[in-house]
Amino acid sequence: MKLDIKSMTLPELRTAFQARNLPAYRAKQVFTWLHRGATRFADMSDLPKDLRATLAETYFITAPEIARKQVSKRDGTVKYLWRLGDGNCVESVLMRYRHGNTICISTEVGCAMGCKFCASTLGGLVRRLSPAEMLDQVLFAGQDAEMPISNIVLMGIGEPLDNLDSVLRFLELVNSPEGLNIGMRHISLSTCGLVERIDELAERKLQLTLSVSLHAPDDESRSAIMPVNRRWPVDDLLAACRRYFEKTGRRVSFEYTMIDGVSDSEAQARLLASKLRGMAAHVNLIPLNAVAERTLRPSPRPSVARFQEILERAGVTATVRRSLGGDIDASCGQLRRKYAGEEEGTEWKHGD
Ligand code: SAH
Repeated sequence: MKLDIKSMTLPELRTAFQARNLPAYRAKQVFTWLHRGATRFADMSDLPKDLRATLAETYFITAPEIARKQVSKRDGTVKYLWRLGDGNCVESVLMRYRHGNTICISTEVGCAMGCKFCASTLGGLVRRLSPAEMLDQVLFAGQDAEMPISNIVLMGIGEPLDNLDSVLRFLELVNSPEGLNIGMRHISLSTCGLVERIDELAERKLQLTLSVSLHAPDDESRSAIMPVNRRWPVDDLLAACRRYFEKTGRRVSFEYTMIDGVSDSEAQARLLASKLRGMAAHVNLIPLNAVAERTLRPSPRPSVARFQEILERAGVTATVRRSLGGDIDASCGQLRRKYAGEEEGTEWKHGD
């Protein structure tokens, strides 16, 4: 069995090379090649030929294929569907903002969390991604789109905290000065609210932004749309967010999907405000992206505006998230579902 070399950190690579009596600087050379997107040892031209051959016998290099690519005509958002080494597919979305290019990456194939509004969880969890498979989304999307990537959000398919070890290793890789060198402050991690893992993450004192998918302020409504709430109710989750802020000094960001008749009442806005008051928090209101397989509908605009006004009046900062890529199924898991449902030979309109 060959080993996954791109999931290894530089110190690990050095140790492994030392054990083979290879000089440490070779580890750094290989690491640099990998993080520039090299997919074959044979291409690592500054390594001796026999070393390239030895490495190829010991290690493999992950290299996803682009199974589908869609470019939004409206805003230049690019959506990728990647085919991984074992044939499974995941998605990434590359968005252009004034402050830089942001990529939204997947952390798992499918998802076990079961949120009622989300397309990613419809087929359950298939498997977790390796650190290299997360890094590849950043490397190869940036390369393909010829766009330098400055920000990363872990908000694609999957629950990052359900794959915490690999996610932490991915963060170390992408943060490495010898690699992409993307600062922790340019990274956001989104979770549906696995309280124990939030505490574990807080212990690391990373400077990344924790983004919590709240979507409702009361247990009855939240449990109806998010099964995770039955295990960790709203108040437990908010207590963990406070602990996270105390440990890291980082303001927590809340995602709040506006669902017609489910999460958008004025009473819910007032309850949310009372629960977040005095907390270093920011709320992102996101109109639901209707998913074909689901019956839930987005809130009408006036309800969203009213909700925001109630929060702001109570001193809770809230923004209505600009929706990018609405014309290209850019919402979580939608492209993967569509692809799985397509018949062989169906025409795919590139760039539509
Ligand atoms: N599992 C993590 C990260 C992936 S989901 C989490 O739950 O946070 C990324 C975000 O998209 C979450 O806030 C999720 O609730 C939201 N989301 C999923 N489906 C959506 C939809 N149809 N419309 C709007 N937001 C959606």
